[in-house]
Amino acid sequence: MGQGAPLITRRAALVAGAAVLAGCAPARPETSGGFSGAAVDRGHLLRTRADWPAPSVTKRVEVVIAGAGVAGLAATRALRQRGVEDIALLDLEDAAGGNSRASAIGGIACPLGAHYLPVPGDAAPEVQHLLEELGLRQRVNGRWRYDERAQCHAPQERLFFEGEWQEGLLPLAGVGATTLAQYARFAQEVERVRAGGAFRIPLAARERLRPWDGETFAAWLDARGFRDPQLRWYLDYCCRDDYGAGAGTVAAWAGLHYFAARHGFQPPGADSAGEREAVLTWPEGNAFLTRAMARPLGERFRGGRLVLRIAEQRHGVEVDAWDVATQRVERWQAARCVVALPAFVAARVVENAPQPLRALALSVRHAPWIVANLHLSALPWERAGMPLAWDNVVQGHDTSLGYVVATHQALDPAPGPTVLTWYAAPGEPARGQALQQPWTHWRDRAVRELSVPHPELPQLLVRVEVARYGHAMPIPVPGALTQLPKPPDSGRLRHAHSDWAGYSIFEEAFTLGHRAGLS
Ligand SMILES: Cc1cc2nc3c(=O)[nH]c(=O)nc-3n(C[C@H](O)[C@H](O)[C@H](O)COP(=O)(O)OP(=O)(O)OC[C@H]3O[C@@H](n4cnc5c(N)ncnc54)[C@H](O)[C@@H]3O)c2cc1C
Repeated sequence: MGQGAPLITRRAALVAGAAVLAGCAPARPETSGGFSGAAVDRGHLLRTRADWPAPSVTKRVEVVIAGAGVAGLAATRALRQRGVEDIALLDLEDAAGGNSRASAIGGIACPLGAHYLPVPGDAAPEVQHLLEELGLRQRVNGRWRYDERAQCHAPQERLFFEGEWQEGLLPLAGVGATTLAQYARFAQEVERVRAGGAFRIPLAARERLRPWDGETFAAWLDARGFRDPQLRWYLDYCCRDDYGAGAGTVAAWAGLHYFAARHGFQPPGADSAGEREAVLTWPEGNAFLTRAMARPLGERFRGGRLVLRIAEQRHGVEVDAWDVATQRVERWQAARCVVALPAFVAARVVENAPQPLRALALSVRHAPWIVANLHLSALPWERAGMPLAWDNVVQGHDTSLGYVVATHQALDPAPGPTVLTWYAAPGEPARGQALQQPWTHWRDRAVRELSVPHPELPQLLVRVEVARYGHAMPIPVPGALTQLPKPPDSGRLRHAHSDWAGYSIFEEAFTLGHRAGLS
């Protein structure tokens, strides 16, 4: 602990003492919970079941959109903007949103996956327009202003480092001059890279990123002498947070993109130090956006439909889907289809899948993710040091990424029960294990980790819901961007999913979907 550590308040000390006596036990065995989120078993039917019955009903629409994630919803919105209303948007889940869906526990909304959107820059006009349409961005006196309810309220981030909470995620408490010098030099390096203009969201000219696609971010840092353990912990954390894989796995461009395409890297002491990237967030995370896009669709959205086959034909497209509710196969005939499915699924269901799609499906390496929502009877106790923030990270864990507070954006001044959304990226080799573990494994792991800064947590815990993602997002490994094929769009089939961007964020998925709907 650094010199001059703040005194723990008397109340906090009492609580901490009680918890120590209780042995920082994992969650009480009676803590209820289970799995939520992705219907893993439905998706797996595609490879485990072969005896699908013949279609028992045929329906006709102008356009079928397969997959109602951000990309599929954006494509649907763009089609409707063009006046195309005769649409069927099919998804295996009962709700639209894909990785950007939400849940509620004890009446408290909480994300199941994606939870924030950085304020989009001018390179993402499609996303800016969506925010204007939803009333989240307005021009006031000639300047753009974002809805204050959606802007992440302060305090935004804190790190549990050396036994206490500090502001921001960059380790600062008690770090030496060498560390500070490395922070400053890395900031200069990011500025140099940024000035070249190759880094932007969404990615534009991929070939301009080629110089950073041949090696891992870790190798790139090593080659430049960035070896300080605190800097390296922070950069590794950022990679795991954005891509579900560490600096030793992702390409150098991806590690730099995190900063160079956004707000840069602010070392302590710089004029801009302490400035946080403007981030939009909601109690239900990005499901605020996907629900807003899905709301006007009415009957056009068909949940509980597992797409089994997409066949391009001379006069149209045929899409077969398993209706989970009726246990029948439906046949949809349409003039066109937007395939907004993950590439590995699209390659399986698109008949005679074109070579670029097969190549993408074979090359994408996926990161698994775990999201555990912890319902607590009260907020964790405040201790001295930085107070509870929206994003709270505990240093010293290489798979978990900390937690966000689902009630952080609530304007209710009386703190009551809450939900902490805990994220973990267990790494590509652990996918099988991540899916096989019982939900209690993740409950106990989250509780064990969070009991270090919050010893009272087991006593506050009411319920835990765990969402598993086996193929959460593509990992931008070295070489993947250079080899990324272009979507093999034909007159009748358009492809849109964040897999085609090589990494997964809202802006990429939305822009790809929007363009597929417009073309
Ligand atoms: C845990 C987690 C946290 C994240 N956090 C953030 C964040 O904070 N901010 C951010 O910008 N991004 C985040 N992301 C990235 C997120 O993936 C993207 O923002 C975006 O949601 C991707 O949308 P998509 O449409 O490309 O893909 P998906 O969300 O994968 O959509 C594909 C859709 O296809 C459906 N589908 C699949 N197979 C079939 C089938 N056979 N039949 C019918 N439907 C099918 C799926 O159910 C899904 O709805 C996060 C991702 C995860 C997993």
